[in-house]
Amino acid sequence: MEKRNDYKRYFKMTPKIYYRVLQTEGKLLNEMSNYYDGFVLEAHILEQFPKSLISFAITSEKPFFIDPTGKLSIPDSEKIVEKKWFKKILEAYKISEYFREEGILIEALRKNLARFAKATINYQRKTIKQKSGGVALFGISGDLEPEIILSPYFLITDLTSDIYQLNLKLLKKSLKYKGENKLYATICIEKHLLFSRKIEKVISDFTIKGVDGYCVWIANFREAEEDHVTLEKFVDFLKKLSNTGKPVINLFGGAFSVFLGKLGLLDKVVHGIGYGEYRDPYVSATGFAPMRYYLPGIFSFVPISVAQELISELPELECKCKFCKEAKNIKPELLKKHYIASRWKEKQKSFKDLFNDLQKVIRRLEQKNLFEPYWNNLRHLKNWEKVL
Ligand SMILES: [Zn+2]
Repeated sequence: MEKRNDYKRYFKMTPKIYYRVLQTEGKLLNEMSNYYDGFVLEAHILEQFPKSLISFAITSEKPFFIDPTGKLSIPDSEKIVEKKWFKKILEAYKISEYFREEGILIEALRKNLARFAKATINYQRKTIKQKSGGVALFGISGDLEPEIILSPYFLITDLTSDIYQLNLKLLKKSLKYKGENKLYATICIEKHLLFSRKIEKVISDFTIKGVDGYCVWIANFREAEEDHVTLEKFVDFLKKLSNTGKPVINLFGGAFSVFLGKLGLLDKVVHGIGYGEYRDPYVSATGFAPMRYYLPGIFSFVPISVAQELISELPELECKCKFCKEAKNIKPELLKKHYIASRWKEKQKSFKDLFNDLQKVIRRLEQKNLFEPYWNNLRHLKNWEKVL
């Protein structure tokens, strides 16, 4: 790519690192407060576990924003209807009467978009304050506002669909209520649309006067598993978005997005702690993901046993962070801390140094003939090298 010669131009750029907070993670994130920049609260988790998330939000002192409709992104899905949070969210967004057993009635919603947009924006703006009672304790104020407001959004599967138009209308309505806040347009699309010739039209459609930036969610986009052509399309998309001059946030990204942030294509990258570098909106996550180890040397998660095998073949892959040193056995909390610390270390490096690390590890893995036996765990390295 032509930007390969432009490394120097970007040497000081790096994306801000944000985490999506689960109800169980407040303590961990407070202990790790020197290792990330900000956080994201998802409305459906906030509705289910207000106490733990609010107490985290008012003690963390980091910037944050709220993802209003991530879990509603497929509104006519029966899967969400049975969830406990579903009714609460509908009430908070003043759309309970559009609810049916098979999901949200889009037709009815369409006729009341202004009310829905206003309610989702007010929710983001005021919910922390209301739920905390706005109390100031020990100098910590509960009067917290998010740094940005997101336009409510639904998953776009097709550019000629009604849902596409619905998203645009929601964005236009949202702009009316943004007031003093910064409003980001949320573009939530299926992966195949990255290949559409109309993708430029999407960007121009979402670039309305008053939009202050973009949040991007490519459904089920897995940085470590996509082939290089798909990765290139993703990079092209981000380049075109960045050309608008406005900041872009990847709502679900991993190390590849950190690289792209260093090239100036992403202002913020949002991760789940140890589980969420992508999200498939069609799958409703239940319980906890199997324990995997973030192997910083290959910029990716692997099963613990694979990490052990790779480290025994290539000792320089061993992580020397204090959390790994401390670990006497595999504790989920230490795995998470190690991941957060590893990501932070990636953030501190220049693009050039991080890319050198990538090339170096590829050569070493080649010398040891490890690509073939571990292809599924390692192929992303070659794809990334090709694309970056
Ligand atoms: Zn470590």
